[in-house]
Amino acid sequence: MSKVIISSLYDSPVFKMACRQFDQAADAISLPETLRDRTKYPRRCFAVSLPIQRDDGSVTVFEGYRVQHNLSTGPSKGGIRFHQKVTIGEVAALSMWMSWKCSLAGLPYGGAKGGVIVNPTQLSDFELERLARRYMQELIPFIGPDTDVPAPDMGTNEKMMGWMMDTYSNHVGHISPAIVTGKPIALGGSQGRREATGAGVAYLVKAYLADFKISIEQATVAIQGFGNVGSEAALALVEYGAKVIVISDYTVGISNAQGIDIRKALQYISTQRVLKDFEGGDEISNEELLELDCTVLIPAALDRVITPENAPKLRCRVLAEAANGPTTYRADKVLEKRGDIEVIPDVICNAGGVTVSYFEWLQNKQNYYWDKEEVMAKLFKILDKAKHAVEAQKSRFGFSRRLAAQTLGIQRVADAKESRGLFP
Ligand code: NAD
Repeated sequence: MSKVIISSLYDSPVFKMACRQFDQAADAISLPETLRDRTKYPRRCFAVSLPIQRDDGSVTVFEGYRVQHNLSTGPSKGGIRFHQKVTIGEVAALSMWMSWKCSLAGLPYGGAKGGVIVNPTQLSDFELERLARRYMQELIPFIGPDTDVPAPDMGTNEKMMGWMMDTYSNHVGHISPAIVTGKPIALGGSQGRREATGAGVAYLVKAYLADFKISIEQATVAIQGFGNVGSEAALALVEYGAKVIVISDYTVGISNAQGIDIRKALQYISTQRVLKDFEGGDEISNEELLELDCTVLIPAALDRVITPENAPKLRCRVLAEAANGPTTYRADKVLEKRGDIEVIPDVICNAGGVTVSYFEWLQNKQNYYWDKEEVMAKLFKILDKAKHAVEAQKSRFGFSRRLAAQTLGIQRVADAKESRGLFP
């Protein structure tokens, strides 16, 4: 029998949620007791202090984390989040989901995640550069292209990945592009990486709508979060013929039953940074957005926005989880009981991002670069394969789609751990 030795280090609602999901999946596949805690809990974590000089000459110390959940199946892989509400428990939960996601997509990675407690909208570009570089500097002893490979997540972007790559490369004395993914193309970034997560979400939405016999040309879409993932998903869905009727960011939601001009909205935020006062529709709140009558609802911002309180009020046909962990464990039970909403769970829905990150890492290691067509074709092939596996698991065992996806991801990690044995 294994014994739980984990302290309260990660204790938080979102880590508990990830653990409850794991326990349910482990029960469903009768995972042996001796493998459970080994597979479930993060392997190691780092907490770092990040002093930076502010533009006014003062010094602020920020706190950051990196959690490496699993290194049994390859280097660990996962984004870095800059957000004022980051906690080590949230980072740990996100690192667990990364493990299942990489495993489900068949990528040779374990899961990791990083975070810094900061509101990036309140820092200047120079301050963000100092913070990104300092975070990388502190992590250098613990990461590497074959150990742990970060990427962008909420609040970080390709510019910051470029600064991090430069910091690491200066330290090792030669260019080392494979240390991070999601970099600018000029620094070894991959064609299609910026679009990958949103394009993957849109591709899966299209594929699932076809399965559910819903015409994409008739589909209306509401998207919470208009950053990298939300905006790219919107662009791709409009391209497929769907109508995006609501978008939002942390300042406001914009609703237009005729369809929002996504390119205009992108132009607007490229100068204004936020959607507030964008004149492409009427203002609605982020809460109203979630309960709107639409074909597809796409949370693409924070975790735990679908709760037991609003789950009974959702009026979408399909919930496509572009964000990580947007549906709480109890809300998920409400949706399962309702049975009228098809859920495309996060571990498959947003797997496009890490998949093209894998391609970027491969291209960096080979010093041989692919065109966008090749990247997208390879991405869609991997997503198709994962979708097929999830649907087969779902119908074979009568699982929900989330349970099917998570059991597949968890089983492969557990198999690798069992095959490697315990050391020493
Ligand atoms: P981003 O920082 O580019 O954009 C986040 C968006 O969410 C912004 O528009 C922001 O204003 C909005 N937002 C923040 N707080 C909000 C709130 N309270 N209500 C409504 N909107 C709010 O981040 P991103 O990279 O697009 O990531 C979004 C989600 O997708 C996260 O959950 C992230 O973990 C997940 N994800 C990202 C990637 C990736 O490649 N970037 C990959 C997989 C999953």
